[in-house]
Amino acid sequence: AKRNGRNGMQFYDPAMQQALEAKAALESDLRRALEENGFVLYYQPQVDQDGRTIGAEVLIRWLHPQRGLVPPAEFIPLAEETGLIVPIGNWVVETACAQLKLWEGRAGLDDLQLAVNVSAPQFRQADFVAQVRRTLERYGLSPGRLKLELTESLVLDDIDDTIVKMQQLRESGVRFSMDDFGTGYSSLYYLTKLPFDQLKIDRSFVHNLGVTQNDAVIIQTIIGMAENLGIESLAEGVETEEQLGFLNAHGCNLYQGFLFGRPLPLEQFQARLQAFAQK
Ligand code: C2E
Ligand code: CA
Ligand code: CA
Ligand code: CA
Repeated sequence: AKRNGRNGMQFYDPAMQQALEAKAALESDLRRALEENGFVLYYQPQVDQDGRTIGAEVLIRWLHPQRGLVPPAEFIPLAEETGLIVPIGNWVVETACAQLKLWEGRAGLDDLQLAVNVSAPQFRQADFVAQVRRTLERYGLSPGRLKLELTESLVLDDIDDTIVKMQQLRESGVRFSMDDFGTGYSSLYYLTKLPFDQLKIDRSFVHNLGVTQNDAVIIQTIIGMAENLGIESLAEGVETEEQLGFLNAHGCNLYQGFLFGRPLPLEQFQARLQAFAQK
């Protein structure tokens, strides 16, 4: 469909018009959700080689009044485009820190870590570091309990800004995980410049284990890189015992995936850990 005729005339395109209206409606719904506390966090367990849950990745969902629970893939892109990801991302950091504080001193919950996803527009804010520090100070959390997940593309898109911010936050006790590792273009060179504590093996590689030999090689390489850098490896998307067996045999430190638990609402996540703590 043409938008501009030969004479500069506008042609009415109902499909495009509809798409624009749907987007505008979604945006104003998102703004309302921010004001009315319409987001929730789900907690997906992260497990060590002994099967102990050491923490969780927090994953946002939108509790939409009509549409129900909306997954992040359906609103994060628009939130990034409109800048709404900044206040949404701040809410996620705030809520994760508040939760860590509430768990202090509680059996089975006391020393969990939470991993939070950070979007590029959020990380690039001039006051991102100050914002996170203020939140940490407000809750007085001990170092190492909050982990920020940064993707390769975020990291590389402005490497100097990334290094400065990561170093500053690290001084405040924040830990870092490289999310979806292996899907981008990070070289070992960059990795040595950046204070990451963990490489997170993208779930596409784990998924193809036993299907393509290449992915097995990539996984072994990533685990080896983490070992050489003296940092942790975590495999995401672990769904089967076979995948776990391979990862374990090759020395992967931590696991996350449906085999250990789906992302759970707070109450269920807590109940699961408290049940373990009593055993
Ligand atoms: P991600 O960071 O790669 O998060 C992992 C995604 O994999 C989650 O999807 C999780 O439910 C899913 N997953 C976990 N285990 C398995 C498994 O064993 N098999 C399969 N097939 N999938 C598994 P979810 O919750 O829909 O999140 C999708 C993406 O949305 C996340 O990908 C992340 O990029 C983004 N996201 C989620 N929460 C936030 C947030 O608070 N802020 C930002 N900026 N992005 C977020
Ligand atoms: Ca993630
Ligand atoms: Ca990931
Ligand atoms: Ca991903």
